[in-house]
Parts: sequence; structure tokens; C-alpha cells
Amino acid sequence: MTYESLLDEKVETKVDQLSNHTWLRIGGTAEIATPKSKEEAIELLSCCKENNIPYRILGAGSNLLVDTNGITDLIIDMKKCCQSIEVDGTSVTAGASVKLPQLANYIIRHDLGGIEYLYSVPGTVGGGVFMNAGRGMGHNSTLSDYLVSVEFFNGKEIETQPREYFDFSNRYSSFQDHNDWVILSATFEFPEENEEDSTQKIKDRMLKTKSRERSLPNAGSVFKTGQPLPLKGLQIGDAKFSDNNRIINTGDATSKDVERLMKIAKIANKIIPGGRDLKTEYQIWKDDN
Ligand SMILES: Cc1cc2nc3c(=O)[nH]c(=O)nc-3n(C[C@H](O)[C@H](O)[C@H](O)COP(=O)(O)OP(=O)(O)OC[C@H]3O[C@@H](n4cnc5c(N)ncnc54)[C@H](O)[C@@H]3O)c2cc1C
Repeated sequence: MTYESLLDEKVETKVDQLSNHTWLRIGGTAEIATPKSKEEAIELLSCCKENNIPYRILGAGSNLLVDTNGITDLIIDMKKCCQSIEVDGTSVTAGASVKLPQLANYIIRHDLGGIEYLYSVPGTVGGGVFMNAGRGMGHNSTLSDYLVSVEFFNGKEIETQPREYFDFSNRYSSFQDHNDWVILSATFEFPEENEEDSTQKIKDRMLKTKSRERSLPNAGSVFKTGQPLPLKGLQIGDAKFSDNNRIINTGDATSKDVERLMKIAKIANKIIPGGRDLKTEYQIWKDDN
């Protein structure tokens, strides 16, 4: 099948505002293809590679700052294609589309735990592995703690590699250095945990993370670094620091508004005595990166 007929006849495709697909509610127009199965995703990815069509992978859009001017690369939305969860004793294999809260909730019903704190993280397994999602600084817990292996498309074929292959560290995996790698599923070995205890941990976590401003559009922590300077309240356009490390979109914020706020935060943190470089956690999508 040609690339055109694949998009016209097989894979669900539409042109849409990416703001409809990101937690920050920011992002211009793009062509978005949503494969409905793993096979369809592989067919599309292979076809893109053969035809030199650049693509970007969209999970739940909860860590993305997308250019308000839009993106010309094809966006491959993974939300439908890899939704299975298989449990075999303490071994769990979850598809890339599975939401992290869904996974945390699912495994506790099998008396497994360890990722209750991820119940508050609205990403997918794919995005979580890509970002090595985890708990705030000081807690030292990340999704990769229980990871055994990852199945991914390597630009040519499907490959499975053990955890060590991906150099996980603070909000980093080597997927971030390989644009064409696409996570299909991840296998974990979770510790046994009493269902009631896990449920309580989830409730405690949700109480801690719930606040009014957190319910406004945002994409989690802006920077990887612990506690940046207090910038709460600083605002450009409709983008505003709701705390030292979180920017909310109070209305019609643009990607430029957010980038300007980030720039101010970086400069302010650099020029103070003993200042330091803030490393960006957001994944920023623009046509030139
Ligand atoms: C309210 C809120 C709370 C949050 N709390 C936390 C927290 O406590 N801890 C934390 O670590 N993060 C947190 N985040 C950030 C975010 O949820 C995580 O980084 C999450 O793992 C991103 O997953 P996603 O599916 O949304 O990825 P997206 O935002 O869609 O994508 C992020 C990156 O991953 C890539 N990607 C996604 N899926 C795949 C795939 N299948 N294969 C290859 N690449 C892929 C994308 O191309 C992109 O570069 C929070 C965000 C919000 C909005």
C-alpha cells in the first residue's frame, strides 16, 4: 500500500489543532494519524520510513509544549494501538497506550504494587518509559525501577531489549536520543502488595497532588531540577507560574508565552549567587527540532 492510500483508506487520519491533544492546551495544526492496532502502527511507521516521511509520536500529550504555529511532521497518536495488559504472576506487560493510572489501578487488583504514586501522572506507558516518569526529587522512584524490558520499533523492525539498554536516569531514557524509536510495550516485575494498602497509597497520593491550580491546563514540571527560584505568580500573556516549577495556561496562552517564562526562569536561576542551569523537562515540539 502506498503512503497516501494507507492514510486515505486504512489508518484514521485527520487535520486538527494539537491544542486538543495536549494537557497544556497549546499547539497549532497538524495531520494526526491514529492507528487502531499494533500491526497498523508498524505498517504506518514502516511506510513512513520507506518514504522518508518524518513523524512524531504522541502519547497522552501530558509533557508536551507544542508550537502554536503547528507542526508539519506527521503526528502518530498512539492512544488506540497498544492497549493490552497481561499479567503472569508478578510479571506485567503493558501496551504503550495504557495510561499510567490505569496500569497502577489494574495491578493492585492482582495484589501487585510499587507504582501507586504514578496514579497522579496522566501519561501513557509509552510516554512514561520515554520520560522515565517518576516521583519528585528526593523520592528517587521512577517507572524504570520495575522495568524488565521494552519492545519497540527501531526504525526498521520490532526489537526487545532489557532495561539496561536504555540508560535510564532522572527523566531520561535513550529513547530521547532516537527520534525514530517507538515504544510498543513494556514488561515489568512488580512487587507483591496488599490491595488495601495500595488503594490507601493511591488515595494519599491523590490528596497530596490535588489543588485547584493543578486542575488548570499544565504539563507537569517544567524543569528537571529540584526547587527552582520562587517564581509563583509570574505571568506572560495567559501563561503563569502556578508554583516554582509548574506553568498553567489560564486561557489562550501561546507556546511563545510559555517559552518566554521559561527563559526568565532560566536566567534568574543562573544569575543568583551560586546559580545553576535549569534543565528543561518539557518535550518541546517545533518544526525545527
Ligand atoms: C497534572 C500532571 C501531573 C504530572 N505529574 C508528573 C509526575 O509526578 N512525575 C512525572 O515524571 N511526570 C509528571 N507529569 C508529566 C507527564 O505526565 C509524564 O512525563 C508522562 O510520562 C508523559 O507521558 P505522555 O504519554 O503524556 O507523553 P507525551 O506528553 O505525549 O509525550 C512525551 C514524549 O514522549 C514521547 N512518546 C510518547 N509515547 C511514546 C511512544 N510510545 N514511543 C516513543 N516515544 C513516545 C513523545 O514523542 C514525547 O517526546 C505530569 C503531567 C501533568 C499534566
